Amino acid sequence: MASSDVPATACPGCGRRNDAATSVFSDSKPSPGSVSVCIACGHISVFNADLTLRNPTDAETREIAGDRRILAVQRARDQLMQELRDRAYVEDFVRETIKKHGPLSTHERINEIVDVTLARIPQRPRKRR
Ligand SMILES: [Zn+2]
Repeated sequence: MASSDVPATACPGCGRRNDAATSVFSDSKPSPGSVSVCIACGHISVFNADLTLRNPTDAETREIAGDRRILAVQRARDQLMQELRDRAYVEDFVRETIKKHGPLSTHERINEIVDVTLARIPQRPRKRR
């Protein structure tokens, strides 16, 4: 995987400003026509000649829909987002608990407690395909 700077563009799906791209399947930089999955919303875009993002054409959409690699990237993104939501939930819980029961803790200490708590949560079973 390699990350590279690209011109800042709003995601056509969610409007988030994207200014970097990480290549998932090679160490190459994005080139015109490369497919992009927005980390924030999962929207699929295509790089223009100037490396800004646009929506795929109908023909590109059909091509992308059959690409298992893109599906794998979207699944990985969904899982990452779920884990980040889990972490935020646990962090809020730890902060609330400390506020009620304990002395004021540092940000590092809270992160430590969150890490320990997350490590104790069993992994979700994988969905059957
Ligand atoms: Zn987006």
